[in-house]
Formats: sequence, structure tokens, C-alpha cells
Amino acid sequence: MKVVVTGGAGFIGANLSRELVRRGVDVIVLDDLSTGRKSNLDGIDVELRLRSVLDRDAVMDACRGADSVVHLAAVPSVPRSLRDPRHSHDVNVTGTLEVLEAARAADAHVVVASSSSVYGRSPVLPKSEEMACQPVSPYASGKLAAESYALSFQHCFDLPCAVFRFFNVFGPLQLPAHPYAAVVPSFIWAALRGEPLEVFGDGEQSRDFTFVGSVVDVLADCVTRTVSCAHPVNLAFGTRNSLNDLIALLAALLGRELDVVHRPARNGDVRHSQASGKALRGLFPSVQPVPLEAALCRTVKWV
Ligand code: NAD
Repeated sequence: MKVVVTGGAGFIGANLSRELVRRGVDVIVLDDLSTGRKSNLDGIDVELRLRSVLDRDAVMDACRGADSVVHLAAVPSVPRSLRDPRHSHDVNVTGTLEVLEAARAADAHVVVASSSSVYGRSPVLPKSEEMACQPVSPYASGKLAAESYALSFQHCFDLPCAVFRFFNVFGPLQLPAHPYAAVVPSFIWAALRGEPLEVFGDGEQSRDFTFVGSVVDVLADCVTRTVSCAHPVNLAFGTRNSLNDLIALLAALLGRELDVVHRPARNGDVRHSQASGKALRGLFPSVQPVPLEAALCRTVKWV
């Protein structure tokens, strides 16, 4: 089996490439290394093509003969999309269109990465896929447009495809300096350096933290079974933990109290986020998510 992973040198992409290689899949990674790192792929046998998803010929060429294309390449940052909405649109929307066209030409199955950000500010929990989306950033609008393109290609051209809305993914290969500014690596790296953990607000804000190993299990299963779905699917399992929960778990894991410094709550931060995992569990009944405590332990060991 041959699979193209766009953004395969990034955090989720490199974890997926590793899992696919472990399962005996031939992997081609297409990545421009704008936020990814070559070293994320050290020690595994993948073909790395240093090209942009906006390079039509390169995308067409990589996808030729592929069974599946997992499209993870993106400018994965809300602040960056506010600073430069055009660039965010080019990569996240036009780039997706290029990948869909290449997959269509190659008759390949496609998996597209979207984001829980498409739900916007609605306080309703859990976020179920039927809810109306209300994007509140150019990044979220771009992800919603990318989803919509993928599903329209499925409808118009019978392109087999699956669209996943990732929530807060964390785990090995994720660095605290990354523009997605994920809280889990920031906390772990600060704790290990003996620095205070920076919390915006009271720490009671909560997220559906999802271990990258579980995400990758779903994506690999999706590719190997060529799973298609006519609607987007949340890729999270419906658990919700506050930042204070996270700090308590980390303190227990490291066997010491952690210093915390509170900053004013950030304008625009969503207070709570939790997925409905019903559709996901229906489509991927064999995937068992790694519980938060075990997942944190594996992440700390990697650091
Ligand atoms: P990442 O930044 O580690 O990975 C993105 C990869 O895409 C990088 O390797 C980067 O170099 C590559 N890339 C960017 N622009 C490119 C271009 N024009 N051409 C080719 N490659 C390009 O981020 P990640 O966390 O691994 O995110 C993967 C996907 O998941 C993204 O689509 C992101 O929007 C989505 N997502 C991630 C999260 C999360 O919690 N990490 C949450 C929601 C959605």
C-alpha cells in the first residue's frame, strides 16, 4: 500500500508516518518544513519530498499511484491567520484543493485534517458534528472551507474521503515553541526545567485532550480500511479535563508540587471544549484511546 502524507514532517504527520511504516505501508511525505522538522522522520524509511502543497506538479506527482492521501499540511495557527489571512487561506484552502484534485486524478482515498475551531464560541457541549459551525478566525474559516471542498468532491466526483476535526492533540514530537502554542508541551517542558507553569485565567478552562497515539491509530485504521464518511467526524473521545486537572496529574507523575503563575485570561480563548465521540466510535470501534494519565506519562518520557 502506498500513502502520501502531506505535512508528514510535522507533529501529527511524523507520528502517523512512523505508524504507517510500522504497518508495512510505503510512505511519501510532502512537506515544506515551514513548521515541521526533518529530524521527526529520523530512523524511518520514508521518501521525503521538500515541496509545498501549493506546487501543483509536485502534489500531482507525489499522489500518482497512491492508495490514500492524508492531508495534514497547514499553517496550523490562529494568530498567524490573524496576521496574514491570505497566506493562511492559500495554504489551508487552496492547498487542500490541490490535494483533492491530485487525489481525484490518482483515484486515491483522501483524509483531510480539520479542527474543533470550526465550532467557534458556542458554549454548547459536547460539540457534535450536527451543530452549526461559527468560525471566529480566518484559520477556522479556512478549515471549514477545506472540509466543505473535500465533502463536495466526495459528492460530485465520488472521491472516497474522510474529514476529521482534531481537538487538542498532544504527545511525542510536539514542541512548546510551536505556533499552535499547545498547553501540554508548554506545561511539561516548564515543569521539567523547574520553571513556573503559566496559566491564563483560573485554570478551570477545559479541553478534550487527545493523545497523538490515539489520533494516529484512527488515521492509520482509516487509511488501511479506506473509510469514507459523508460528514466531518470529531477526532476526540469525549473526555474533558481542566488545566488544573492537567497540572495535578503532572505533579503526581513527577512526584512534586509545581509552581503555577496565573496571568489574566486571554481574550478570545474558548472556555470549554469537548467532543462528542459518538460518530468516531461508531466508525472505528476497535480504537481504544490512551487514557490521559498514561498518555502524559508517555509524553514526559519522550521529553
Ligand atoms: P505541524 O505544524 O507540526 O504540522 C504541519 C506540517 O505541515 C508541518 O510539517 C509543516 O512544515 C507542513 N506544511 C505547512 N505548510 C505547508 C505547505 N505549504 N506545503 C507542505 N507542507 C506544509 O502541526 P500539527 O499539529 O501536526 O497539525 C497537523 C494538522 O492538524 C494541521 O492541518 C492542523 O491544522 C491540524 N490540527 C492540529 C491540531 C493539534 O492539536 N495539533 C488541532 C486541530 C487541527
